[in-house]
Amino acid sequence: MTTYLLGIDLGGTNIKIGCFDTALKLIGKISVPTDAEMGPDFIVDKFYCASEELLKQNDLSLADVCAVGIGSPGSVNLTEGVVAAAPNLPLFKNVPLKEMASRRLGKPAILENDANAACWAEHIIGAGKGSDHMILLTLGTGIGGGIITDGRLIHGPSGGAAELGHLIIYPDGRLCGCGQNGCVEAYASANSTAARATETVRGGVRSSLETPLKEHGKITCKDVFQHAGHGDAVAKEVVEGTAKALALLCVQLANVTDPESIVFAGGMIAAGDALLGPIRRFYKQTIGHVFNKGSLEICFAALGEDAGIIGAASLALTACR
Ligand SMILES: [Zn+2]
Repeated sequence: MTTYLLGIDLGGTNIKIGCFDTALKLIGKISVPTDAEMGPDFIVDKFYCASEELLKQNDLSLADVCAVGIGSPGSVNLTEGVVAAAPNLPLFKNVPLKEMASRRLGKPAILENDANAACWAEHIIGAGKGSDHMILLTLGTGIGGGIITDGRLIHGPSGGAAELGHLIIYPDGRLCGCGQNGCVEAYASANSTAARATETVRGGVRSSLETPLKEHGKITCKDVFQHAGHGDAVAKEVVEGTAKALALLCVQLANVTDPESIVFAGGMIAAGDALLGPIRRFYKQTIGHVFNKGSLEICFAALGEDAGIIGAASLALTACR
């Protein structure tokens, strides 16, 4: 019986693979290092070997699998099944990942951007369940996004839609990795949050963050939230800056697609209410009152780190029919 699905979440550091039944119940999962420097052929071979291993662990084989879904970082062309470019996978330039994976695994494959896959997972069984109008923002090294409007993910002709980290919130502001100035990602990603704190401390402002800088040679985003929690003024100001940038992004998005909810995912949500509270506060302070968007729900993702594999598997369902 070919009644199982594989969901592959390709990350810059790890490849996570989940095996699901067609009701999207997780049967088992596996995580292997990506070894991104080895290139696309090697990585597709890892898809195969890790899938075989995972299926074997669950007394299954590839014969039991009807389709494979893959969530990839970067710019993904859905029609062509091609990863055009992915910042964390430098050797991925115009890689026909869908066809390569399909050939290696001998199964139909679906390719999607990783943030879109996670957004879809939250839409069907997570924090956006029951809502046909939601937005997901992933807060990590960078800021990724997915938009579901009228029940559908939006992609654009070349798959470049929903690059939500690159909305400009401060014209002439900080330089972003994308080449623009003032993107939200240049203020509110984990890396940018850490970078803003590091710059302030290196600039000579007294702060308890001098300790991690001295001891580890750097300040991490986690350090910033931790020291803000202990009352350090610099750390508190940096956290406020991050929350304000994200709130401004929410205001822009509320005015673009009128979502019912904006869901934050990714490593930074571990900061909890220290992050969510000020985002909600700044949002309410900033959003205009005329269009009645003050009641927008701003919340955290419900599926945690499994959102990527769940989303990829759920998209694979469409290839089974
Ligand atoms: Zn940018």
